[in-house]
Order: sequence, then structure tokens, then C-alpha cells
Amino acid sequence: MTHAEHEVADLCVELIRADTSNYGDGSGPGEREAAEIVMARLAEVGVEAHYSESADRRANVVTRIEGTDPSLPALLVHGHLDVVPANAADWTVDPFAGEVRDGYIWGRGAVDMKDMDAMMLAVLRQMVTEGRRPRRDLVFAWVADEEAGGEYGAKYLTKAHPELFEGVTEAISEVGGYSLEVDPGLRLYLIETAQKGLAWMRLIADGRAGHGSMLNSDNAVTELAKAVARIGSHEWPLTYTPTVRTFLTEIADAFGLPFDESDPSNLLDKIGPLVRFVGATLQHTTNPTQLSSGYKANVIPGRAEAVIDGRFLPGHEEEFFKTVDSLLGDKVRRESIHHDIALETTFDGALVEAMIAALKAEDPTARAVPYCMSGGTDNKTFFADLDVRGFGFVPLRLPKDMDFAAMFHGVDERVPVEALRFGVRVLDRLLLNY
Ligand SMILES: [Zn+2]
Repeated sequence: MTHAEHEVADLCVELIRADTSNYGDGSGPGEREAAEIVMARLAEVGVEAHYSESADRRANVVTRIEGTDPSLPALLVHGHLDVVPANAADWTVDPFAGEVRDGYIWGRGAVDMKDMDAMMLAVLRQMVTEGRRPRRDLVFAWVADEEAGGEYGAKYLTKAHPELFEGVTEAISEVGGYSLEVDPGLRLYLIETAQKGLAWMRLIADGRAGHGSMLNSDNAVTELAKAVARIGSHEWPLTYTPTVRTFLTEIADAFGLPFDESDPSNLLDKIGPLVRFVGATLQHTTNPTQLSSGYKANVIPGRAEAVIDGRFLPGHEEEFFKTVDSLLGDKVRRESIHHDIALETTFDGALVEAMIAALKAEDPTARAVPYCMSGGTDNKTFFADLDVRGFGFVPLRLPKDMDFAAMFHGVDERVPVEALRFGVRVLDRLLLNY
């Protein structure tokens, strides 16, 4: 067993034990404890790193390993150190004990994403200890606050310390690279190449306030309710982005099934619980999530408001908002509460080839498939701020029956130790050879 394979589980356990719960309101412990572990483990092998806190205890660590060929652009490998909170009462184990049981490491962050944080650390330590150098510069970043939008992490770093990412054109990070076993001779590895965009919108209707007993043809509540119902029940058409089309074509081919564009449910059935990641990537969605208006049964309020959680497909943002506006009607307007870009990159080029080659070298049955995520990761920030082309690639060879999607933010989150060892083998190959 290599050095990285040997220590990756211990590093993951150590990081899980540092509670970095992110409540999104600044009340949590922050990432400092985990960042100090990363700093110490880097220092042990003589690697200096840039440590910065964007606010008290909101810690980020970035380091660069110089490649042998300065003409090549740099690759960013990033992982977030924060985790979503865990309610210990729901769990079989203490979510912050980092228990190893039945070949799995249990704990909050085991797959999201202290697994990758540990894999990055193990591979880097091994590379440095053995005196091997990558071809291109590698920038490793362990960042704060991904779970609350990255203000204290990726967004802070790209604004305050852009020089750390000098020359970076591509990135790899979370929610991709895991396996879906079709049969013993074929494992698909889902590499994330696209992410839906996000549009949280406030709808506002202004009408004529008045007494509840009188005639009122300009009732804000009525107008708002009609718009909310139109938007919430709108049937968005199936729309295939290049990534989703390729994904479904690959699934069809792997399982020997037809791909009927008018109804691909036969293919979605085949990917089992992973449908949680991709089920909503075949169309836009607009879910009403909040409603507010009025203060008394017999008073017609002058204003009514609602919130819509909208998610749009990459390449179709304009058409999404055009349709939303047509559904609003004349009496309701919208404001943006929060907006985030959609992402899509092509599944080609030297980095994709290198990921495929590294997977195949460690798992001859591997076949890499691009997919689109319905949520988002820090890749959006690095793309928006630094024009970095990002992929979801945390290589994990998973047991066939594992409900991997349920692990993310889930109760009893856990990761197989063997999957981590597989992951460091793949990452080591990728990072050294690319
Ligand atoms: Zn994550």
C-alpha cells in the first residue's frame, strides 16, 4: 500500500473530528480547527501554505506545488472544509467522532467533503515526500463556507487573494467521479460538467387596500395567488442540454435500452437513487416556497408577496426568465433575492482524457460519463471570478448497493475506506501525469 493509501483514512477521520458546522448565520465554530490540521500536515512535509481568515475563524488554506513545465496552465484542486450541521440524536454514531466501522468512516463530511479534503492532503504529502513533481503547477485550496454560498471562502479568496490562482485555467472538486455499477464488467463514473443556475425570486403584487366586506377588483392577494399558481404548476418542457443528452445516451448504451426523448424515465429508473442528483436536470423548475400577506381577516392588504425557488438550465437562462415573466401577468412583478449562474463545459480536452485514463488504470471496467447537477458547487465562483473551467471529480469506487446520493447532508453519512484508497490512487496518477 502506498503512503497516501495508508494515511488517507486517518486524515479523513482527523478532519471529521474538527466540527466545522456551517449554520449560514456566522454562529458556528468556523473552519479554523480543520484548517490548522491541514496546515500542520503540510508543515510536517515541509510545505508552506497561505492561511487566511475572511472573518473570525473562517479559515482558508491555499498552497501551490510548482510543476516541471512552466508553459502549462495550472490546475486547481479545491475542497471545502465546512459541513452542514448534524443532529446527533438522529445518528447511529456521534457525527463528529470519525468512527470507523464495517470498513466505512462515519461522520458529517465523510462524503461532503472531508473525504476529498483528506485525499488532496494525502496525495500532496506523498508527492512531496517522494520528491516527485507534477508537470503543471497544482494549486490546492481548502476553503470555508461552501455550504452557505462561499462568501467567506471561494468568493473571498478570489477577490482578496487572486494572485494565489495565477495561471489557473481548470479545476476539479466535489460531486462527481463516483461510480455507478452497471454489471461486474462495467462501472460508470459520473463526472460533473454542468450545473443548473439559481434564481430565488420575490413576487410582489400591489393592489387596492380596503375593507374586507366591500367590492374590490384590485385585490393584491388574489393577483399574487393567481401568479403563484401559474408559475408553480407550469409544466416546463423537457430540454436537453448537451451534457444531459450525452449522459442519457451513455446510460441507454450501458444498459442496452432505448433513449426516447419524449419520455426518458426508463433510463432514470436505471440510475436508482442517483436520480436525486440528476432528476431535475432535464428541465427548469420553479417551486413556490414562501407566501406572505395581510394581518386581519377583514382587511384587504395593499400588498402580497411570495418567493419562488427557480432553477434554470445552462444555456437557457434568457428563455427561463421570459417564460416566468409571461406567467407573472400584468399585476405582479418580480425582484431577485439571489441569483447564481448556470455552468456547462464540454466533455473533452486533455484534462478529461487524463481523468478517464487515471480511472481506467485503477478500474479497467471504468467508463466516464458527463452529467449535470441540479445544485451548485464552488466551481461556479471560480468560473465567474477567474474564468476557470471546473469539473466535479472526487474519484470513488463505490459498492454497488450504496445509496451515495443519500449521504450528502444525510443522516449516518459515511464513506468506504477502500473508496478513499481508490481515490488517492486515481488522483495521484491524474495530478502527476496531467
Ligand atoms: Zn459539498
